[in-house]
Amino acid sequence: MKCPKCKQMNKEEAKTCNNCGFELRMPMLTWKWHAKTLAIIYVVLGIFYALIRLLIKE
Ligand SMILES: [Zn+2]
Repeated sequence: MKCPKCKQMNKEEAKTCNNCGFELRMPMLTWKWHAKTLAIIYVVLGIFYALIRLLIKE
């Protein structure tokens, strides 16, 4: 992953930055990303479901 401090590219599993030693482990960021993605999926599914219900009614 990319270091947020010095923009150095590091291995995905790296715990600290190769260049500046910045801690790369940010579980909150990953969790937030997952929550955001899941929210988008639910919204899309909700819209899709509503559209299908409307089409069936007609
Ligand atoms: Zn760095």
